[in-house]
Amino acid sequence: IPVENIRNFSIVAHVDHGKSTLADRLLEMTGAITKNSGTSQVLDKLQVERERGITVKAQTASLKYTLNSREYLLNLIDTPGHVDFSSEVSRSLAACQGVILLVDANQGVQAQTVANFYIAFGKDLVIIPVLNKIDLKNADPVAVSGQLRTLFGFSENDILKVSAKLGTGVEDVLKAIVNRLPPPPVNRDAPFRALLFDSWYDRYRGAVILVYVTDGTVQVGDEIVTMHSGKNYEIKSVGLLRPYEEPTYKLSAGQVGYLTCNMRSTKEACIGDTLHHRNQPVSVLPGFKSANPMVFAGVYPMDQSQHVTLRSAIEKLILNDSAVTVSTDSSPALGQGWRLGFLGLLHMEVFSQRLEQEYDAQAIITAPSVTYKARIFGEKNVKHYGGSEITITNPAYFPDPCIVTEFLEPMVMGTIITPDTYLGSVLSLCMERRGTQQSSTNIDNHLVMMKFLLPLNEIVVDFHDHLKSISSGYASFDYEECGFVPSKLVKLNILLNGIIVEELSMVVHASKASSAGRKICLKLKDIIPRQLVEIAIQAAVGGKIVARETLKAYRKDVTAKLYGGDVTRRKKLLDRQAEGKKKMKLVANIKLPREAFIDVLKR
Ligand code: GDP
Ligand code: MG
Repeated sequence: IPVENIRNFSIVAHVDHGKSTLADRLLEMTGAITKNSGTSQVLDKLQVERERGITVKAQTASLKYTLNSREYLLNLIDTPGHVDFSSEVSRSLAACQGVILLVDANQGVQAQTVANFYIAFGKDLVIIPVLNKIDLKNADPVAVSGQLRTLFGFSENDILKVSAKLGTGVEDVLKAIVNRLPPPPVNRDAPFRALLFDSWYDRYRGAVILVYVTDGTVQVGDEIVTMHSGKNYEIKSVGLLRPYEEPTYKLSAGQVGYLTCNMRSTKEACIGDTLHHRNQPVSVLPGFKSANPMVFAGVYPMDQSQHVTLRSAIEKLILNDSAVTVSTDSSPALGQGWRLGFLGLLHMEVFSQRLEQEYDAQAIITAPSVTYKARIFGEKNVKHYGGSEITITNPAYFPDPCIVTEFLEPMVMGTIITPDTYLGSVLSLCMERRGTQQSSTNIDNHLVMMKFLLPLNEIVVDFHDHLKSISSGYASFDYEECGFVPSKLVKLNILLNGIIVEELSMVVHASKASSAGRKICLKLKDIIPRQLVEIAIQAAVGGKIVARETLKAYRKDVTAKLYGGDVTRRKKLLDRQAEGKKKMKLVANIKLPREAFIDVLKR
């Protein structure tokens, strides 16, 4: 297929606006899959994605489409829609010349619609605005078109209106892709050059890598070099994803496809790397802004005999999720493990779920923490830490406040779009989370867009859930990093029977130490099953106890007293005991369930 007949595009949308559904329709209409071949989205491969209804891994599909008796190759790159995964969105867009900006005609413009628009706009991509779900009774395409015109300056004629579910108008989307997007700006006569933009692990073939070929061609048997590592490989297979692997003889400039080359190690497939033929050097392609991990957590095997299994599971998953960073870590209670960096809490949850589902690995994941900084003084201290500004990714290594001039915490600029009915609740939530309002814009008569400067540690755990619940699901949120600012931070220690459990300690703003301490103690009291001894659960800052709960000792028959009483309560108690027995970790001579290490943070 000649380059002029290739179009590379992506669909971007706020979560649930119908990206996967539209992708399925496009696949069906171009014959890549047969109609009704499956119930749910074809591109959402992973079990986690099915369960959570979100797209985590960007997936690609090459579609063949004929318009005016010319055959086109349309390469669709599916992108994740959640804030945590914006680096994947950015990465996928490096291979595209245009995007479909999909907006639910019922919900209207949401925070990620705005974020996605600006990512695409910033990359000079052609943007095709598409209103989806026009079949819904409450759809208001006129109002939502108005929002798109006001916010982004689209003209009414450019806005397509479709029902991805029913297929209405989807043909126009295909036509717009062909007519509005330019072919990829590539050169087939130049030496081979390609951008490695995604990869996943295959047990038999090693790394399967996704490439966007910008120059020349590549075929089976070729010897290639990955520029970053300088390593040589022989190509074993190449092909298109339609969406399932379809081997081809070669890949040419402009195309997006997969290749395998016996890449064994997880570190070899470096996202953003440039590939070229051996002995035919090329200039390096602009890589992507690498994703900064925002949230760190320790990962440990349930017992040390599973250490090796867990390590290889983590390594394989990371090949498929390059946004995760890893370093080794150890803890007195949990033994040898790793400290992983994630883009956000959802990212972390998805990762641990995949660890269990795909690798059957049981792991303890400790309470997540964001990165803090501290400026320290005293020659000896500076020497000890190797610098006067230190970075703290693990609360266990929080420095003694008496050597610190100031602590700093990471901030984000949050965008919230909400119907004005919920303005009051949204404002008080943001205040409660130490946010300061930066701006407020009316998108139309009902919708307001606000910007807040917020500390990352206040939003990383459950901010999004709260925002959704106070606004009946209508408010939406997105954020970008916004640097570090000085802050009054303290380390909140959790003690069980007087012993500090480092794995449970966390860094909080001084003003929140008592309230956070009380909540955690209560939560732990709830999570930890009763045991042979009474357990004192305490929260402390320095030597000062800020909260305390007591968990009474276990009696032989915990439910004996409840006979004849409330049946549901008795059942709940038994259930909890049964659950408690499942997976326990002995810490400070106290049996702790796995959940104790992560659930404590959810307010
Ligand atoms: P994504 O998160 O953007 O990938 O959204 P999905 O494609 O998973 O769609 C979210 C929900 O909206 C699903 O329940 C879809 O069935 C539904 N949906 C998608 N497109 C339409 C449409 O055109 N009309 C209606 N009524 N529902 C739709
Ligand atoms: Mg989806």
